[in-house]
Amino acid sequence: MQKESEINEKLICLQTLTLNNNFSPTINNISAYNEPNNSKMKEVSNYIKANKSTISSDITNVTDDEKIMFSAKLSIEKLLNKIFQRIGDSYNNRFGIMQMIFELQKMEYIDAITVDSIKQIINVCNSAIHGKVINKVHINFVKETLPFVLNKLQNIKTKEVHLFPITCPRCHYVGQSRYLNVCPKCEFVFVDD
Ligand SMILES: [Zn+2]
Repeated sequence: MQKESEINEKLICLQTLTLNNNFSPTINNISAYNEPNNSKMKEVSNYIKANKSTISSDITNVTDDEKIMFSAKLSIEKLLNKIFQRIGDSYNNRFGIMQMIFELQKMEYIDAITVDSIKQIINVCNSAIHGKVINKVHINFVKETLPFVLNKLQNIKTKEVHLFPITCPRCHYVGQSRYLNVCPKCEFVFVDD
């Protein structure tokens, strides 16, 4: 017997996936980052070795505040990744920070004030990381709020999430999924007879 909340969650998930698939299937498949291309890196390294004499080192221009903003975002993201690994959620590879936050809120692991805190921290950090000038008030907000957020995330006690073994009829993925009839790889929703 499934709990009503679980069934509702699945229905919402299916509706979202169906909507997304109808709307634009490609948007869902954009990953948060690209894998480094080893052959391109080798090409660049060789170029740099050949032109070493014309390149001066030690010209990084990152301020201490910007470093703090970067570490704040990284600390949050590392904790979130850990939580999602524990949950065993097969969607986590493609989740960005905000998606992970909303999932945790949906699963009632974090409250609204934590969600808002993380959102505002990430907004400031993103500005800094993208080279925008950030003001002292925002920097201080991150410094003050980060420990609260990290403590909240650290103290999340995740429940075991049951995973279903599935075989996807569309992309032929064989593995585990949070939902009996949703492929975690291509997000296809199929009818299981
Ligand atoms: Zn699939």
